[in-house]
Amino acid sequence: MPELPEVEAARRRLSRKGLNREIRDAALCTPEIAEATARKHLEKALTGSRFTAVKRHGKVLFLCIGDGPWLVIHFGMTGEVALYEAPEDRPRHARLIIDFADGGHVAFDNPRKLGRLELTEDPSAHIEQQDLGPDALEIGRAAFARVVRGPRGMVKPALMDQKKIAGIGNEYSDEILFRAGLRPKADRGALSEDQLDALHDQMRKVLGAAADLRERGAALPDSWLMAHREKGARCPRCGGAVKHCKVSGRTAWFCPACQDTPDP
Ligand SMILES: [Zn+2]
Repeated sequence: MPELPEVEAARRRLSRKGLNREIRDAALCTPEIAEATARKHLEKALTGSRFTAVKRHGKVLFLCIGDGPWLVIHFGMTGEVALYEAPEDRPRHARLIIDFADGGHVAFDNPRKLGRLELTEDPSAHIEQQDLGPDALEIGRAAFARVVRGPRGMVKPALMDQKKIAGIGNEYSDEILFRAGLRPKADRGALSEDQLDALHDQMRKVLGAAADLRERGAALPDSWLMAHREKGARCPRCGGAVKHCKVSGRTAWFCPACQDTPDP
């Protein structure tokens, strides 16, 4: 599932290869993934124009069409943006296909149709409407500590709450907690300053390194817990058995030996 690193990788690719190319044609092949205004105006807004800027906030991507509006892409469970040259390289579940006048293409690929396309005049207003918290790569130490600590409650859902911090989902939160030595169910109300600092540091390291890897199309290294989120897997650090539990309806993976904060 696309989280901040995958969307950041898409932003970088689009920034390098998707801007300032004239759009010859645009086809919204699956109108139901676009909200009403985008369904009506998107193809017309794109045709004959060009993307002039690309931004990301959390897991949301914004592409400026000419001097506005902006196309907003919410990736859902399985989306990605594919840039390709030959028509036969079009992804199988392309929901929006854009043909550049120079012969290249970009498509929004979304197999499970859980993504959403919207138009907005103002990305900041959209971020506010969606009630998204600060971006996970932008939030400072003090603000991070403020939103993660709080009343009693599990730490993992706090990291994944887009209203507190935008960008982290189920998989990267497992990696961040593994590196910080905290269990998914650790009580966020009881975290020390040192634990909060470690969590903030690891969040930045994990998301930054993953974005670089994803940009290059590389797999996550074997030393990451994320490469071992499955039954029977061993911890890449200590070799012990990796365990899982349910947290807010999602499956969380952790190493009980390396993550030794007691469960509340
Ligand atoms: Zn371990």
